[in-house]
Amino acid sequence: MVKVRMAPSPTGFLHLGTARTALFNWLFARHHGGEFILRLEDTDLERSEKKFEDDILSGLKWLGIDWDNKDIIRQTERIDIYEAQLKKLLSESRAFYCHHTREELEEESKHQMTAKLAPRHVCEHKNTDLGKTPGGIIRLRVNDKSEDKISFDDKIRGLIEWDEKLLGDFSLAKNLRSPLYNFAVVVDDIDMKITDVIRGEDHISNTPKQILIYKALGAEIPNFAHLPLILGEDRSKMSKRHGATSISEYMPDYLPEALVNFLGQLGLTYSEEILSKEDMAKEFNLAKVHKSGAVFDVKKLNWTNSQYVKKLSINDLRSLSGISKIPESALSIITERLEKLSQTKDFEYLWDDISYEGESLVWKKSDKDKTKKALGLFLDLITEVSDPSVLKEKMDTMADLEFSGDKGSIYWPVRVALSGRDKSPDPVSLFIVLGLDKSKSRIKEAIDKIS
Ligand code: GLU
Repeated sequence: MVKVRMAPSPTGFLHLGTARTALFNWLFARHHGGEFILRLEDTDLERSEKKFEDDILSGLKWLGIDWDNKDIIRQTERIDIYEAQLKKLLSESRAFYCHHTREELEEESKHQMTAKLAPRHVCEHKNTDLGKTPGGIIRLRVNDKSEDKISFDDKIRGLIEWDEKLLGDFSLAKNLRSPLYNFAVVVDDIDMKITDVIRGEDHISNTPKQILIYKALGAEIPNFAHLPLILGEDRSKMSKRHGATSISEYMPDYLPEALVNFLGQLGLTYSEEILSKEDMAKEFNLAKVHKSGAVFDVKKLNWTNSQYVKKLSINDLRSLSGISKIPESALSIITERLEKLSQTKDFEYLWDDISYEGESLVWKKSDKDKTKKALGLFLDLITEVSDPSVLKEKMDTMADLEFSGDKGSIYWPVRVALSGRDKSPDPVSLFIVLGLDKSKSRIKEAIDKIS
């Protein structure tokens, strides 16, 4: 049975990339009818914070990415398990204590950098009694003379190989009670019977080390799949400079279903552009994930969101925008034009009083008198014609007869009179939403303003 996991570190707010990785794991698990586990990798005590944990959990819930473990798994609550495995490796001499000081290690790495050598620490303590003496960093014994390659068949990128000897005796833990990432992640993945490790491409270089840890612990090695990075529009790694990177920054503007739809397409193409995560799960296939980076196209995100916004009910729109007085008649005029939820307030002229300068009523090719005349004619028109579907035609005829075919002379002042804005939907749509009484009083006000 397929079992995958998402293992975020609570050292920052829920990032777009983390949410995308969580989603791909979720899609893979649901596609295979498997399990999806959420585990918090909080062993970095200095950088882990409760507020980040809360943000990650609430962000995933908001996106609808649900996990199958009932209790939250935190690595800090599993220290005894890592300690037992460290002791096992030490007793079998697969791991040892390195007594080099931080200064000595820094000196060595500086030297390797200037000599352009692979950064690694081949520790002479591993073959001495010192290596058995508690104290210092715990390292894995790696064969630095090996001619072997460590290889794995990445489910997205294909065969990846690494020279074993280049790894050096890498560290597993700062001490028995302080495991480091590569060790804790492997112990957990073995313990939780994870079958497929799906994570960001930035972890490729950790994978050979983790494979050696699996081998040292005598465990079966899972499948690995490394997802392409999310890129900004200039094709460099997505960062703050390209726009918001944490999920909470998207919450006021986007529907979770839309963001999920968009994130699911970062690196994968489906048969349709608008689809639910359940439908994405049906089609999900790691082998089809693109190898190259996925560009974060905010225009595409906005378009995707607009498709979901169109389907909102009046109650949805009221509660999502926090504006309870939006009249039901305004629903489609708003949702057809909205890309971001926060833009709902730009339509406040449909329910709140309006204020504007009288001059803005005058169309650039018109003048005060013609404007007054146009408003008067429109007022007569709506008083006589009760069917809004013929209004447009009547206004066009009016433009022909009275304003030499210049539609702006009538459309513009009516639009400004009804909305108080020089950018707003067409006057007939506004009239339909506002209704006869409100439209009449706004036109009258406009006539007064211009007189
Ligand atoms: N804690 C790691 C991270 O947040 C998890 C990496 C992994 O999935 O192995 O990047």
